[in-house]
Amino acid sequence: MKVDILGVKIDDYTMDEAVKKVSQYINSDKKYKIYTPNPEFVIAANEDEEFKDVLNKGDLVIPDGIGIVMASKIMKKSIKERVAGYDLLQKVFNEIKDTDKTVYLFGAAKGVAANAASKMQQLHKGLNIIGYHDGYFDEDEEKLIMETINSLKPDLLLVGLGAPKQEKWINENINNLNVKVAIGVGGSFDGMAG
Ligand code: UDP
Repeated sequence: MKVDILGVKIDDYTMDEAVKKVSQYINSDKKYKIYTPNPEFVIAANEDEEFKDVLNKGDLVIPDGIGIVMASKIMKKSIKERVAGYDLLQKVFNEIKDTDKTVYLFGAAKGVAANAASKMQQLHKGLNIIGYHDGYFDEDEEKLIMETINSLKPDLLLVGLGAPKQEKWINENINNLNVKVAIGVGGSFDGMAG
């Protein structure tokens, strides 16, 4: 069930339920968009209709910030718990390691995604990260990045371009991408690389 926080519809799932959803998505034939709003997203979405629409087209929209959970309680529409995007990713990595499922990291400053990939593969032995690219590109490079992603066909595409850029990018491009699931991950690669 979705809970409406100032016009942004957020899924009321526990972390375990959210991990199960992502697993289902990865194993299905359709394409799925996952967003992880915190209170700043909700404020930004109220000043940017396009961003709000994009968030509300998300298949799984999890409350990354405790502020969202608190707001839901004040509004008597209590969301069960915070589902931090970073923690969700760690759990999903753990689920798909030692399987044929693949991951591509797209975003952050030069070198960060590469570092994050190597750190995550050390932490989750058997995790299949098949490519990465930094998040600073012009139109020509963007075309190349998309062609590379499409030739690699990752099951999971993590997009860390910051909000609202990453959500708008996913919404605009997912139909032309050979991926099962795209997730907006904010500054997660910086955290993973750190
Ligand atoms: N970023 C990027 N390309 C851009 C703008 C930002 O790759 O054009 C990256 C930036 O390097 C950082 C992330 O996007 O890794 C944004 O992190 P932040 O924590 O600011 O985003 P939030 O989680 O607040 O959306």
